[in-house]
Amino acid sequence: GGAEPQFTKWAWLNGRLVPAARAAVPVFDRGLLFGDGIYETVRTYGGKVFRARSHLARLAASAARIELRLPYPPRALEAVMARVVAANRLSDARVRLVVTRGVGASPDLGAIARTRPTVLVYATPYAGPAEADRLNGVRAILARTARNHRRALDPAIKSLNLLNSFLAKREAARAGARDAVLLNPDGFVAEGTASNVFFVRRGTLCTPALEAGILEGITRGIVLDLARRLGFRVREGLFRPAALLAAEEAFLTASTIELLPLAALGARRYPASRPVTRVLQSAYRVTVLDELGSRSRA
Ligand code: PLP
Repeated sequence: GGAEPQFTKWAWLNGRLVPAARAAVPVFDRGLLFGDGIYETVRTYGGKVFRARSHLARLAASAARIELRLPYPPRALEAVMARVVAANRLSDARVRLVVTRGVGASPDLGAIARTRPTVLVYATPYAGPAEADRLNGVRAILARTARNHRRALDPAIKSLNLLNSFLAKREAARAGARDAVLLNPDGFVAEGTASNVFFVRRGTLCTPALEAGILEGITRGIVLDLARRLGFRVREGLFRPAALLAAEEAFLTASTIELLPLAALGARRYPASRPVTRVLQSAYRVTVLDELGSRSRA
């Protein structure tokens, strides 16, 4: 058994709330052997999950893409997330929902008959990036590692196998940067290691189209909606890195980080004033408050 986890007390595993220190899965689980599984990460504010339904719909879509049958309906999983948050007495947190294909009749890649998926839900305290980072932005690099090709492992599937992102993340760490932006195999801007990417070019808010080979981020969708409603010009398309480097503003989006400005991308430093990013950061906060009420620190 591993060391006592310091980050959480109660996890939910295959139908039961269990002490996280004793939560265990068989060594022949296909999640371990083959990375055969999917996941979601959601944010809670004041103990309430933001956009749970959207995340569960995407989980179902990922499951369908890998021919995995989710053993619980979305409604049940929504209740499970709430239960794990409550059991750990969390307010602002991230909740991770992990589904593997479970144990096969034999440890062979193709042996998926009669597998029963492993479902794990755990939650850890998290209130988003530091205030200074939200305000001033973080440094990122353009990764040499390309994002997975859509016809190899489609980034639209939220696969448990994160090695593609991990390799880019390590490049960032070696360069002293927080994160990395990956290009797709054709050299167009794709996404961050665990985020979507936006930039403002000549006043237009731009983000890679789904055809670039990206995860369809829930936050990305919200930001696009807000920007259109606020009257910004918006463009989803295929962009060369030169366009991103020439931008007036750039930011990453994800449920956990909301909108996180880029202070720099490699050698390119972005201007310190970020009028569009600021407006969208506030609009996002307002959306969260409107939906979940005012008990969170958001
Ligand atoms: N892209 C990748 C590769 C991700 O892993 C994530 C989230 O973790 C995102 C984008 C952002 O998705 P969301 O806004 O739904 O959290």
